[in-house]
Amino acid sequence: MTSTRPRRWPYLERLAAVGVKREEFNLVVCTHLHVDHVGWNTQLVGRWLPTFPRARYVFVRKEWEFWREEYKTERFTGDPYYEDSIVPIFDAGIVDLVESDLRLTDEVRLEPTPGHTPGHVCVHVSGVVVTPS
Ligand SMILES: [Zn+2]
Repeated sequence: MTSTRPRRWPYLERLAAVGVKREEFNLVVCTHLHVDHVGWNTQLVGRWLPTFPRARYVFVRKEWEFWREEYKTERFTGDPYYEDSIVPIFDAGIVDLVESDLRLTDEVRLEPTPGHTPGHVCVHVSGVVVTPS
């Protein structure tokens, strides 16, 4: 399947403009698995491949378990984002399924904030809360 979603936002070019290469990322945290939060996980290069090939991708186990089952329902039959943005990350063997209260480093930790989705998390970075929607 191919995606019909626009993928022309120049985020990688913008990172390159400030001297950051996609190969330099070592961690991607997916706060939840809605399409607008995982669509950048991969790039279509003949097939869907991880955008950040040297990174570990952190998915909250509860979130993954919910969407793995939810995706089987007919609500998702018209949107292949599961296959193009999540499955290739698992296929690459670079997913870490974690608990929603994980401390990643001394300065970065997850906080469970269910509601938007069952396994939704906020990310605290040096005391600042990043709140995805
Ligand atoms: Zn969302």
